[in-house]
Amino acid sequence: MEYIKENLQEINERIESATKKTGREPDSVRLVAVSKYFPLEAILAAYDCGQLVFGENRVQEMVDKAKVLPEDIKWHMIGHLQSNKVKATVECATCIHSADSVKLLQRIDRLAGECGTTPDVLLEFNMSGEESKFGIDASLASKLATAAAKCKNVKVTGLMTMAPFGVPEDELNNVFGGLRELRDQISKESGLKLPELSMGMSGDFETAIGQGATLVRIGTAIFGKRDYQR
Ligand SMILES: *Cc1c(COP(=O)(O)O)cnc(C)c1O
Repeated sequence: MEYIKENLQEINERIESATKKTGREPDSVRLVAVSKYFPLEAILAAYDCGQLVFGENRVQEMVDKAKVLPEDIKWHMIGHLQSNKVKATVECATCIHSADSVKLLQRIDRLAGECGTTPDVLLEFNMSGEESKFGIDASLASKLATAAAKCKNVKVTGLMTMAPFGVPEDELNNVFGGLRELRDQISKESGLKLPELSMGMSGDFETAIGQGATLVRIGTAIFGKRDYQR
């Protein structure tokens, strides 16, 4: 799987030049290699190049992979979470990008306490108003700020969003810049630092970095086209 090595190298170079372009430090952006639907060998190929952070969107798939892959891999849950999957998630993931309601956030916090784990949690917002997307409506930001400040076990470290596909650059800038402003607002209201902005995928990560992304979630550009039949 030589192509994975080459793709990973190219993506890391593009991340670095996008950070430089906006006067940011290269290590201010971390790559989450989105390995959902890809086999163990693909993950190991990236791991062998030094990639340690992988993103999955289905809990069972993440847990199954974690069981057999190297222990120093950090698993990030990036997909919508059903309440009955929260326990398995807090036992496995070091970061959950997809807390999309007060109720889910409270459940993550409680179960992490029971399991004795301390995953980082990001609040997922729907900035585009698309009905097909998960995420909290921006009008609920203050409610989330209050809930985030009350978490006892997990640390809420930032915000996450997904931009709509195939929209012009200025709309992407609105979505990503909007998430940054929302972060500033929630940070102020909650007293939490919220350094992380998880935004940007294969098609739009450079724009996201320009708007302050600290975590970019990239799958296709590293591993190739996904086979959703798997
Ligand atoms: C699949 C997925 C990604 C990666 O998308 P690519 O276009 O393959 O880079 C990023 N974020 C989330 C939430 C995803 O589900």
